[in-house]
Amino acid sequence: DRMITNELKQEDEVIELSLRPTTLKQYIGQHKAKENLAIFIEAAKMRDEPLDHVLLYGPPGLGKTTMASIIANEMGVSFRTTSGPAIEKAGDLAAILSSLEAGDVLFIDEIHRLPRAVEEILYPAMEDFCLDIVIGTGPSARSVRLDLPPFTLVGATTRAGLLSAPLRDRFGVLSRLEFYHTEDLASIVERTAVIFDVEIEPSAALEVALRSRGTPRIANRLLKRVRDISQVKGEDYITQETTHVALNKLQVDAKGLDHIDHKLLTTIIDHFRGGPVGLDTISATIGEESQTIEDVYEPYLLQIGFIQRTPRGRIVTPLAYAHFGREVPKA
Ligand code: ADP
Repeated sequence: DRMITNELKQEDEVIELSLRPTTLKQYIGQHKAKENLAIFIEAAKMRDEPLDHVLLYGPPGLGKTTMASIIANEMGVSFRTTSGPAIEKAGDLAAILSSLEAGDVLFIDEIHRLPRAVEEILYPAMEDFCLDIVIGTGPSARSVRLDLPPFTLVGATTRAGLLSAPLRDRFGVLSRLEFYHTEDLASIVERTAVIFDVEIEPSAALEVALRSRGTPRIANRLLKRVRDISQVKGEDYITQETTHVALNKLQVDAKGLDHIDHKLLTTIIDHFRGGPVGLDTISATIGEESQTIEDVYEPYLLQIGFIQRTPRGRIVTPLAYAHFGREVPKA
């Protein structure tokens, strides 16, 4: 089924812990982000200061959480993690912040989903390392300022534009993670195979990489399924042939697109003559939330040039028509 849904994320988390690289050197791909962070980390260490706050953004599964834990490791500090939806009240965040040790990395996943009232206590915490707390109610209420140890906030989100401007402005480093090049993904697949203790033909690793939508999380999951099938067949190592058959069975096509991508594209083709059509209309027609379409499904389709965004809505490109063996309608 769908490769990046929430139900599947839990199964992921178990294997992900063992798969995470722990140093910048081990982190494959994302050369631009890595190069910048390496310099900032080195400079901060030379000054004996915590690293500036970092915002990592990009589609799910590209390695934001992994990068955040590497930052902590490279800085030689503890890594604390939470997420926007998990923090309901200002007091919850205040408790987390006041338990940090000097230099710690606090990672907030899905930071765009922090409630507004919680977000507001982050501003002074990020800027001046202090908490403004109101004690008591009514006329006797007074505000107390508590000092916090200096720390590094690493926030993750799918799109930087989802953050409010005041929050975004308080990050010193904004780093966008990109879809991975096929060769880099193939290296990730080979690395994961070593951790799984299975051998894989280079051509098989490449095939998994080609069908993983530029996304390590998907590559690792596909490899896991392919490994099962190869094992049941009694192979000594994972062959390209088995990989090919297994991935077809999983209904992942040659471009890595699954049935939801197909539904999205063919709906625009069949019901809207290829577009332009608005996101909300697509959402209503295929029964997926607009935000999910925009954050999870669309970025890769845009990247491979199968859809385009125009002011009047989404259009399907001739490339996508060709992928389905369809003719572009005459104007
Ligand atoms: P995100 O936080 O962006 O959703 P994660 O950091 O959870 O993504 O990464 C998803 C999976 O992909 C993890 O299992 C992680 O180990 C693996 N992964 C991500 N980036 C890399 C990389 N550059 N090299 C090796 N494995 C990676």
